[in-house]
Amino acid sequence: MFDIIIAAFADIIESMVKARKLIVLLLSIPFVASNARLGAQSSAYYQPKPVRLEMLQSWEKAEGRALPENVPGIYELDYRRYDFQNNIALTIDDCMPNHVMATDLDILKRRGIKAVFFIIGRNFVDSLGRPMPRAKELLTRVVEEGHVIGDHSYWHRRLDLGAYRDNRVALTREIDGVQALVDRILGHHYPIIYFRPPGGAHSTPLYALDRVLKEKREYLANWTITSFDWCMRLPAGRPDHLDAATVLARTVKQAKEESGGVVIVHAFPQTAAILDELLTRLMQAENSRGPLRFTTLDEIMRLKPVFPK
Ligand SMILES: [Zn+2]
Repeated sequence: MFDIIIAAFADIIESMVKARKLIVLLLSIPFVASNARLGAQSSAYYQPKPVRLEMLQSWEKAEGRALPENVPGIYELDYRRYDFQNNIALTIDDCMPNHVMATDLDILKRRGIKAVFFIIGRNFVDSLGRPMPRAKELLTRVVEEGHVIGDHSYWHRRLDLGAYRDNRVALTREIDGVQALVDRILGHHYPIIYFRPPGGAHSTPLYALDRVLKEKREYLANWTITSFDWCMRLPAGRPDHLDAATVLARTVKQAKEESGGVVIVHAFPQTAAILDELLTRLMQAENSRGPLRFTTLDEIMRLKPVFPK
């Protein structure tokens, strides 16, 4: 009986191997499904999350602490309350200690523009947990050249899903892991105050990530202007592929229409190749309020007096 089952199973496998197209089709189903989701995301500008200031205020009240004043949004960048007044802050996601990060730093140095480098913790260590060869050099450059190190999580997983969803222990580990790693690489304590969740995703029924960030005194720092630069990496035949010209034009168009904002790009080679051009176009851009100008996320937030760490 067992032999018959084995033989039947082997027959099925063999016929599937012969019909290779069928296997390819089956394997591609999840891929196509994920593309469809990506396509949907790419078709619209990023929509800021709903305001949760009231919720945060209720926490403060429960803990008997007053909200800091003059801050539009506490612990979260509640960009909907901002008039960016043609100011742009640049943020670079998915940083790893390689030539791309070095190139981005070179370009920004030439331009005198400051950015937040959102790093993925695991990218900065090898499989044995030792810092990658250029980790110290590049993080030191970020700090010494007037930029900011931001936390883009240790493992770069969706924190609103699976084992992370509403799991404050797992979320805390992600955040503590990056802070400890940065301190170890730099050789001194560098207080991280910006956290950007992978995919920008954080809302869950319990707002666990928001609560952990509050405990850690870090800001959830998402973005408002989406370059969709990751679409340049997709194969040219795909419907959600974007060429460099489109990425540049879309980003500048949105920045003009929305009177500035927080721009997200990634530390990809394709983006590094057009970063200088992107900065040029943004600096030359004008709308009815006048020219756009680069500033920093700190300036946009006016956060410095909020909490010394
Ligand atoms: Zn990312």
